[in-house]
Amino acid sequence: AEEHLRESEKLTTAGRLAAGIAHELRNPLSVVEGFLQIATEENQAFSKHRELMLTELRRMNLMTTEFLVLAKPKDIEMGPVHLGKLFKEVLSLYKRPLAEQGIELVLNLDDDIPYSFGDETQIKQFFINVIRNGAEAMEGNPFADRGTITVAFEYSKEDIKVIIRDEGVGFPPYIIKKLGQPFVTTKENGTGLGLMIMKKIIDTHKGKLTVYNHPEKGAVVQATFPVIKSRDQVKKAEKCLSR
Ligand code: ADP
Ligand code: MG
Repeated sequence: AEEHLRESEKLTTAGRLAAGIAHELRNPLSVVEGFLQIATEENQAFSKHRELMLTELRRMNLMTTEFLVLAKPKDIEMGPVHLGKLFKEVLSLYKRPLAEQGIELVLNLDDDIPYSFGDETQIKQFFINVIRNGAEAMEGNPFADRGTITVAFEYSKEDIKVIIRDEGVGFPPYIIKKLGQPFVTTKENGTGLGLMIMKKIIDTHKGKLTVYNHPEKGAVVQATFPVIKSRDQVKKAEKCLSR
């Protein structure tokens, strides 16, 4: 038992350390990536090495971003969240960079969707992971018509469903079977952590994650979040709203 305790203590420390490192790495990585990007654009005859560095940096960046949510389960702060509002924030960050890649991001939002109960950072991370995968799945499409990522919300008294569709290659069937397992990737520079983290986030929110391919084209990711319910939750929501 003692051994067991020590083992779990070790894990907590390791987890904290990992989270710390991920935090520390994130900013400098982004800065270096940004500068390299500019250098590459300005220098017509860009060097192969720079491309390589960029690729590796992007990969590190991606891993640390994906790691953040994984490594810090204790930092989850559940509160009232408006999924539409959260998605709009993500949209404002990604709409332009995606447009530059020939990808359109369309949000079909009914402003009346009810509040849900969850962790903003995690839910944003969820949206970002879905969008990133969708964009990557459309990389093979011709630039002039790379495709659209469509986001829609449906809701009932019980839950809010977010439906995100892309027009990419679609999920390989074995990926759907392995949903939730880490390090499952078909990409040369993939981490295979995105879907697992998405699943974890939805599990934390007591929702349901479903992935499937659209009968016409592309992948669909569907997640349900509970509608805010208990008196406590509503009270908290009112407090937040009146602030
Ligand atoms: P990564 O993106 O690093 O490969 P993920 O866990 O995010 O890891 O995704 C795992 C795999 O699932 C991808 O490599 C890809 O094969 C498949 N996948 C994920 N999202 C999509 C999508 N929108 N369309 C098609 N395939 C997808
Ligand atoms: Mg991914």
